Amino acid sequence: MTSPEKNYDVVIVGAGNAALTAALSAASKGVKVAILEKAPEHLRGGNSYFTGGLFRFAYNGIEDISELLPDLTSKEKQNIDVGSYKESEFYSDVMRVTEGLSDPSLLQVLTSQSFPTMLWMRNQGVPWILAYGRQAFEHEGKQRFWGGLIVEAVGGGKGLSDRLFELVERENIEVLYQTSGTDLSINQEGHIEGIIAKSKSGYEKISCKSVVLACGGFEANTEMRSRYLGPGWELAKVRGTQYNTGDGINMALRIGAQSHGHWSGCHAVAWDLNAPPHGDRNVADLFQKHSYPFGLIVNVDGERFVDEGADLRNYTYAKYGREILNQPQRVAFQLFDQKTKHLLRDEYFIPQMTMVEAKTIEELATGLDINPGQLQITVQEFNGAVQEGDFNPTALDGKHTEGITPPKSNWAQKLDKPPYLGYAVTCGITFTFGGLKIDTNTQVQDNSDMPIPGLYAAGELTGGLFYNNYPGGSGLMSGAVFGKIAGENAAKEALI
Ligand SMILES: Cc1cc2nc3c(=O)[nH]c(=O)nc-3n(C[C@H](O)[C@H](O)[C@H](O)COP(=O)(O)OP(=O)(O)OC[C@H]3O[C@@H](n4cnc5c(N)ncnc54)[C@H](O)[C@@H]3O)c2cc1C
Repeated sequence: MTSPEKNYDVVIVGAGNAALTAALSAASKGVKVAILEKAPEHLRGGNSYFTGGLFRFAYNGIEDISELLPDLTSKEKQNIDVGSYKESEFYSDVMRVTEGLSDPSLLQVLTSQSFPTMLWMRNQGVPWILAYGRQAFEHEGKQRFWGGLIVEAVGGGKGLSDRLFELVERENIEVLYQTSGTDLSINQEGHIEGIIAKSKSGYEKISCKSVVLACGGFEANTEMRSRYLGPGWELAKVRGTQYNTGDGINMALRIGAQSHGHWSGCHAVAWDLNAPPHGDRNVADLFQKHSYPFGLIVNVDGERFVDEGADLRNYTYAKYGREILNQPQRVAFQLFDQKTKHLLRDEYFIPQMTMVEAKTIEELATGLDINPGQLQITVQEFNGAVQEGDFNPTALDGKHTEGITPPKSNWAQKLDKPPYLGYAVTCGITFTFGGLKIDTNTQVQDNSDMPIPGLYAAGELTGGLFYNNYPGGSGLMSGAVFGKIAGENAAKEALI
């Protein structure tokens, strides 16, 4: 006997941050929602699970932050400087790092809805804390937050994911694990009428009135990576989930959705050389190595190849993975001395890292398999090029080099206080930038710029927001802003 066809108002494909916020917002409209999660329950949550849980949003000052974090004490407030981060700053930061290519209408929604969405999540039951460990340094007696990124979910990505699942369960939203969406089903009028899903028991059609695709980009699909990002990308390590293989993008393209955005671009960072091929749920994001603005980066030949201090870390880290992939053997080394050791983030002190400590530069080179003669020359030239100035890790301090290529534009200090520390890194891909075209209501567009009735999308699998580069903390924020809108609109459509 065959089991009866499943029937819902809204089906959400994926179970990361974008999908779960979409599910919560759809359910709040009183419709019957189901979530399809390709992963088994113990591996659920997508890339969102692996994150630091950091969200970038616009705020006007400490009053806004107090609204999000009502438990902040007045003593704590006196000891911190959160500054402000206006909508216009968020907007222009994205435009600056994307070389002016970000879709203005989507970006307008992201920046203007960022703070209201943070509040909405807080009211749903997602708790926030200040990101002291990663986004603040002590300066002039206060913890000064920098770079437009100051709040994270309690418990990081794991805390965020666990909490969102609790909230989804509280709403009695059904989550079907080990169930992949494979094909969208449309009726004669071109309206979504269901989705074909594959589970352990085979293929089945699930009927619904609208679908929200929130099942990630194609970063874990080797073939698509090398096809769209270019040769060599099949060799990158994947920082997060193994399940984001472009399924949502491909199933929408098959029914005539429009491709959009930077298909040959992606977010990729410095990642431990010996990290596993996909994310490890225990180590999570700690394989990353993000303190390079305070040191030197060289390749196996002992040569520098990027300006380590071109900008605040949040605005360079996502594009430097590509630079590392382009080096011989796809390897680079981050070098520090005792002057900056105290500035290194927590990820530099985990047991699972590829690191050498040495008393001399030659010993460091030998330990890490870098060309020793050239490394000594590089460090000597660098030290000779460092200019006087006040070092300040919380701002672009202008302490720079002169007469070397590439230059170091900020935080340039001599590498001269042993023991030296060297960390071996490779390229870790985070997520891909190309995807589906959506409008500001998150409706997926067809090739004539008309919405496909009943089809919505949010998160990594949408294109148009990020090109070339990305300001840290924008991925979770964009997933939540557009996930919330997608859930609301998919529910409204189901109620018609
Ligand atoms: C190590 C790491 C650290 C990061 N840190 C941050 C950070 O601190 N701040 C930030 O803003 N961003 C961060 N990011 C980026 C962030 O993870 C993404 O931008 C964001 O989580 C994407 O959310 P999403 O919901 O679109 O996708 P995901 O969270 O990846 O969810 C996709 C879901 O779809 C499921 N799926 C895939 N295919 C199918 C299918 N066919 N059917 C059903 N389900 C399917 C997957 O199993 C998964 O559950 C980080 C990423 C990584 C990997």
